[in-house]
Formats: sequence, structure tokens, C-alpha cells
Amino acid sequence: MSRVAIVTGGGRGIGAATARKLAADGLAVAVVDLDETTAGETADAIKQAGGTSIAVGADVSDSAQVTAAVERVAAELGPPTVLVNNAGVLRDNLLFKMSDDDWETVMGVHLRGAFLFSRTVQKHMVDAGWGRIVSLSSTSALGNRGQANYATAKAGLQGFTKTLAIELGRYGVTANAVAPGFIATDMTQATAARVGVDWDDFVKNAVSQIPVGRAGRPEDVANTVSFLVSEGAGFVSGQVIYVAGGPRA
Ligand code: NAD
Repeated sequence: MSRVAIVTGGGRGIGAATARKLAADGLAVAVVDLDETTAGETADAIKQAGGTSIAVGADVSDSAQVTAAVERVAAELGPPTVLVNNAGVLRDNLLFKMSDDDWETVMGVHLRGAFLFSRTVQKHMVDAGWGRIVSLSSTSALGNRGQANYATAKAGLQGFTKTLAIELGRYGVTANAVAPGFIATDMTQATAARVGVDWDDFVKNAVSQIPVGRAGRPEDVANTVSFLVSEGAGFVSGQVIYVAGGPRA
């Protein structure tokens, strides 16, 4: 029987590419997203390609919704033993303009979301004696102007990951973080729009600072997650892999 994966924020962007990649690797994939319609589109694409998938609408920052989502996945696909904490939002602002809500929203989705899903799914992993948790960090964890909230959350996910690796290792569970640099998605397009820079110019500027000389694609991140989730990656745990076309942003 195939292993069962949950990818949060799988409706579009990096999450959608990761869901499709894990399905192509042979896993049954539950696509969780706040937006049930886009989650359904990803699940449909997986099924059309011959894979197994369901779409689940849920807010990762809501404890009751997370519990219900994981119960539904276990009932419909089987116990989930792979978790990709990918759902994310931006509420960028310089510190003096950052509202309480900007702070709370980003902490809620990235940190509480990863905490709630990891806590809920770990019992299935421990029961199975095998599991993989991959959380999306970012080069912004190293500090980024206008992102005091996001940088804090993404750095927090690195500490969270290392702690899960220590606590869950004895149960055959690994925990790692992937920290992308500039990846062309709706999220980065929204950033370009917010700062009033034409998308092509925004990409050109980003690429000028990337050693491999191109923008990142959602598939670049998906391929890295695929490795960390694979059977052969069982001795890699507590690590942060930067997927940024160079050593850092
Ligand atoms: P995106 O905005 O294109 O997609 C994010 C998805 O998460 C959306 O489908 C959205 O509906 C979903 N989502 C948001 N809040 C949610 C919630 N509360 N519950 C459930 N789902 C929710 O973003 P992306 O660019 O694909 O980024 C994916 C992840 O990678 C995020 O964690 C992001 O912070 C991280 N990341 C992205 C980049 C980049 O350059 N794009 C770089 C570093 C890290």
C-alpha cells in the first residue's frame, strides 16, 4: 500500500508542485488548503495523471479544523506518515508600520499551523514507526527588510524542525526544513505588485543576485522535498536545506 502524504497550502505554487511530485513518486496525497477550489484542482490534476489524491479545505491555524482534516485523510486514504508544512502568507511591512494583526496572522499560519499539523499527524507516524516531516522555511529566516514577522516565523520553523528531529527520531521519523530563495509564484508576484515593480523587472533584479543565474521554480523545491521524503533519506534529519541557486539569498 502506498504511503499517505499531507501537503498543506497545496492549492497552488510550491505546495501544488510538491503534491504533484509526491504523487508521481507513488504516494497518495491529501491536498489541504484554505481555498478548497484550488486544492480540488491540484487533486484533479494528480488523479488525471494516474495518482491518488483528495482535496481537503482547512485553515492550518485552526486546531479543530486541523484535527478534522487529519481524521478525514486517515479515513479516506489511510494513516498519513508524510507531512509537508507548506501553507504560508505574507503580511510585509516595515516594523514601525507592522500591525498586531500582521504579526499574529503570519505566526498563526506558519508557526501554529506547522505545530498543529505536526502534533496531530505524529501519532500516525509513531504508530507506523516511520515518518517524514518537511517544513517550508525561507532565506528570509536570515533577515529580510520588511519581513520582521515572516523572518521570525521562518527562523522559528528551523528551531521547531530541529526539535522534532530530536524528539521523534527514535520512532523512525525524520524532520527537515527546506528554505527556498526566490521562487516565481503568486506569492512573489504579489510582493512585486505591492512594491509597485513590474514583474519582469522584479525577476531580473532577483536573478542578478542568484549564482545559478535563474529564478527558482516550484519544481526546484518539490524535488528537494521529494528527496527528504524518500525511503533513502532516513539518516538526514534536523537539517535546513537552502534551495536558492546559491549558498544563501
Ligand atoms: P502561495 O501564496 O503561492 O501559496 C500558498 C498557499 O497556501 C495558497 O494556496 C494559500 O491558499 C495557502 N494558505 C494560506 N494560508 C493558509 C491557511 N491558513 N490554511 C491553509 N492554507 C493556507 O505561496 P508559495 O510561493 O507557493 O509558498 C509556499 C511556501 O513556501 C510558503 O510557506 C512560503 O512562505 C514558502 N516560501 C516561498 C518562497 C517564494 O519565493 N515563493 C520563498 C521562500 C519560502
